[in-house]
Amino acid sequence: TIQKREITSITSMMSNNTVSNKHKIACGDMKLPVRLLLGPGPSNLHPRVNQQLISSMVGYTDASYYKVMDETMELLRYLFQTDNHFTIPISGAGTAAMETCVANLIEPGDKVVCCVSGFFSDRIYQMAVRYGAASDIYKFSKPWGQWFELDEIKQVLETQKPRLLTMVFGETSTGVRQPMHGIGELCRQYDCLLMVDTVAALGGVPFYVDQWKVDACYTGGQKCLAGPPGISPLTFSDRACARIAARKTPVANWYLDATLLGGYWCPEYNFANAQIATPQPARRYHHTTPSNLIYALREAVLVIADEGLENVWKRHREAAYQLYSGLESLGISCHIPTVSENDNGGGRLYSLTTVKVPEGVDAKQIMTHLLNNYNIEIAGGIGDLAGKIWRVGLMGTNASNNNKL
Ligand code: PLP
Repeated sequence: TIQKREITSITSMMSNNTVSNKHKIACGDMKLPVRLLLGPGPSNLHPRVNQQLISSMVGYTDASYYKVMDETMELLRYLFQTDNHFTIPISGAGTAAMETCVANLIEPGDKVVCCVSGFFSDRIYQMAVRYGAASDIYKFSKPWGQWFELDEIKQVLETQKPRLLTMVFGETSTGVRQPMHGIGELCRQYDCLLMVDTVAALGGVPFYVDQWKVDACYTGGQKCLAGPPGISPLTFSDRACARIAARKTPVANWYLDATLLGGYWCPEYNFANAQIATPQPARRYHHTTPSNLIYALREAVLVIADEGLENVWKRHREAAYQLYSGLESLGISCHIPTVSENDNGGGRLYSLTTVKVPEGVDAKQIMTHLLNNYNIEIAGGIGDLAGKIWRVGLMGTNASNNNKL
């Protein structure tokens, strides 16, 4: 009788509810223009990647999906040029991969140095302050558009004695490439982990995680990989993983906790001692990964592997040089004067060129003209550089002189 009464009261409650149609709009089919995306990202999808976005949906415990996951991790090792076992895609934007590094590698009380000379290096600093104690996070600032020299890094490591040093390799807000040579060695000498953002560069500009002794590195799908946004490759060295295993406090971000993510992506890997268990222990569900984005990412890196990293880098460099000479012939200058042919040199970032807006020209008007008349998107400056520069990206499949709409 009690049950009957409860059911009657629930049904009477239901009958009192009415569906509101206030937000039920009739919008019809989605109509989007086809653009040539020559801004700081996203860039256009490679046609092979586009195709994979609609591959068949399978469950996250399906053996065929596990195979896709394993292949994706191995291809990402090629992309990063690393043997790191913990090399996975993060389900989220480049910022989520950034936060995965910060959340896992910083504990309250840890001394951290953030090298800041642009918008995204400052974003890392802001995140670090949230995960550590603000007074322990040292903002090592230089004016926007400059990079950090080895002797400056040595000095800050010596004076601050940080456990983590953060930097951006390709700073999208300024168009600068940070020279990496020697920084990893110095960090090891001072027992400091090195974290590097390569969101605007990886897959377009030479970068070697292992040879440059980088401990934490990440990128985004949507720039030089010609893949979709929202899926972001990340790799941690064994040193970084051991640091995570030795944490005294749990990672404050559950979704991005590397050990929990490892339970699904690579349960055979022991964070504390880098041992690989055989046979592989069962994968443990953590969250439902965005399978279509992972199919697309796998294909994006496969496209790069098919062309070969060296050729891809060369194509990006040549496209950038064509842009430089075209601008020069128009009497327009690049914002960053230095061009370094050396993979280890600092200077212009091939994948993203910052261009000086000539005196008396309205930057916004030119961007609107390109968009409305040619379907070409470029971007303006942000922060300190708003109105002063344009940002032109030649990334992924767009790093070519055969772009067609
Ligand atoms: N880091 C750099 C250098 C970037 O250029 C970007 C995005 O433009 C990010 C991080 C953040 O990536 P997302 O917008 O995918 O979160």
